[in-house]
Amino acid sequence: MYDAIVIGARCAGASTAMLLARQGHRVLVVDRASFPSDVISTHFLWPHGMSYLNRWGLLDQVLAVTPSYSTMKLVNDGIELTGSVPAELLREYFRDLHGDDSGVVQSYASVRRLVLDQILVEAAAKAGAEVRTNFAVRELLVSDGRVVGIRGRTLDGELVEERARIVVGADGRNSFVARTLNLPKYDERPRCTFAYWTYYSGFDLGLGQIHRRGRLACAVVPTNFEQNMTLVWGPSEWSRDFRRDVPGNFQRALDFVSPELGEVVRTRGTRMERIYGTLDQAAFLRPLHGPGWVLVGDAECFKDQCTAIGMTHAFRDAELTSAALHRWLTGEATIDEAMTTYETRRRSQNAAAYYDYVCTLAEMRPYRHDELQLFVALRGNQQEIDRFIATHADIAPVSEFFQASNLFQLNDAAKESSAGYAIFEDFAATSRMYQQNPFA
Ligand SMILES: Cc1cc2nc3c(=O)[nH]c(=O)nc-3n(C[C@H](O)[C@H](O)[C@H](O)COP(=O)(O)OP(=O)(O)OC[C@H]3O[C@@H](n4cnc5c(N)ncnc54)[C@H](O)[C@@H]3O)c2cc1C
Repeated sequence: MYDAIVIGARCAGASTAMLLARQGHRVLVVDRASFPSDVISTHFLWPHGMSYLNRWGLLDQVLAVTPSYSTMKLVNDGIELTGSVPAELLREYFRDLHGDDSGVVQSYASVRRLVLDQILVEAAAKAGAEVRTNFAVRELLVSDGRVVGIRGRTLDGELVEERARIVVGADGRNSFVARTLNLPKYDERPRCTFAYWTYYSGFDLGLGQIHRRGRLACAVVPTNFEQNMTLVWGPSEWSRDFRRDVPGNFQRALDFVSPELGEVVRTRGTRMERIYGTLDQAAFLRPLHGPGWVLVGDAECFKDQCTAIGMTHAFRDAELTSAALHRWLTGEATIDEAMTTYETRRRSQNAAAYYDYVCTLAEMRPYRHDELQLFVALRGNQQEIDRFIATHADIAPVSEFFQASNLFQLNDAAKESSAGYAIFEDFAATSRMYQQNPFA
C-alpha cells in the first residue's frame, strides 16, 4: 500500500512524486515510456519554471548542459520589446502561490525533454520514490466509488496491481485517468495554432527571440547540444496548406515573420533533425480532483503552445498538489480541506484570466491597431516592458497589466510615436494582406 501512485513521470508526475517522497511519503511513479526520451514539446522555460527547478535543487544539473540567458526579445509587427522579468515580480508570484519566495532566478532556458525529464525522474528516485518505467496503466481499481489503485502491464507482459491512498493522474492531455473516469472537458477552445519545429546548429544568437507578424509567428531559442530550437506557428485553419510542403513552408514562414532570422537559418543553419509538427492544440480544463484521485499538468489543463507555459504550469501544479496532499497525508487537514485550498489557488481569477489570454492569442488574429499602439507606447519604458513580459509569461497578473488605469498611465508616459513603423503606414492594406493564407 503506497501513500500515492503517480501515473506519468514527466514534468507534472516526476516532480509531484519527487516532492511527495522528499516529505517522507511512500510513492510509486509509473510511466509507459522509458527514459531518457523526448515528448512533443518545444521545451522553453520562463524564469518561474527555472525558479521551480532551482527551488528543488535541480537547476545546476540542468545548466551544466543547457545554455541560459536573462533577456528575452519579443518582436510584434516590427515593434521590438526586449527585457527581463523583474526579480520582485517573481518573488511576489512565489509568495502569493506557495507562501515563500526561495530560489528565485531570472533566467530563461530551453531544455530538451530527453534531458530534463531524465533529471526529474532521477530526482524522484533519489528522493525515495519507486520509479517503474515501461509500465502501462490499463485499469483503475475502484472501491465504493473511490479510486484505490491501478492495474498495469510491465514490458514483459505481466499484469500487476498496486494500491494507494491517492492516485495522481499526471498522464498528459489524453489522460488515461480522465478517460477512464469519464471526466468532462470544459471551457474548451477549439481555435488554436499549428506548430512545426526543428533544431539547427551553426549559429548562436545569444538570447531567445519570439517574432510575430500578422497571423504567423516564429521563435529561435538556444538549446542543448549547441543547437537552436526553431519553431514556426500559425492559425490551425492554414495547417492543411502548410502541410503540403513542410520544409518549404517552414522557411517561407520564417522569411515572412522575420527576414533576418530567415536569412540566418537559410545561410548559416544546418538542420540536425527532422521537422516535427502538431496540428491539434485545442485547449480545455478538466475537474481537478475527486474521490481517490487528483489530476496535475496537461491532464487537468491543456493549452496551446503559443505562450510556452505548459511545463512551468506542470511544475507549479506539482508544488501545489504535493503541498495539499502532504497536509492530508500527515493528518493536518481532511482531504476535502486540502483539496479546497488547492482548488482555490488553481481556479483563481488570475488563472482564469491567463487561460483566456493564451486561448485568445492562440486564435492568431492579426494584432489590432490599438494593441500595436500599446507595444509602441511600451518602448522606452523598460519597467513596463519587463512587466509586460512577466504578464505574457503568467508571472504578473493579466488583470493588473491590462487594467485601464495602467494603460492610461502608459499612454501618458509614451516616449515614442507610432510614426516610422511600417505597420502603421498603410494599416488597411497590411491587414488585408495578413488575412490571406500564404501557403494556399
Ligand atoms: C507543440 C508543443 C510545444 C510546446 N512547447 C512548450 C514550451 O516551449 N514550454 C512549455 O512550458 N510547454 C510547452 N508545451 C507544453 C508542454 O509540453 C506540456 O504542458 C507538458 O509536457 C505537460 O507535462 P505533463 O507531465 O503534464 O504531461 P506529459 O509531458 O504529456 O507526460 C505524460 C506522461 O504520462 C505517461 N502516460 C500516459 N498515459 C499513461 C498510462 N496509461 N500508463 C503509464 N504512463 C502513461 C506518458 O507516457 C507521458 O510520459 C508544448 C506543447 C506542445 C504540444
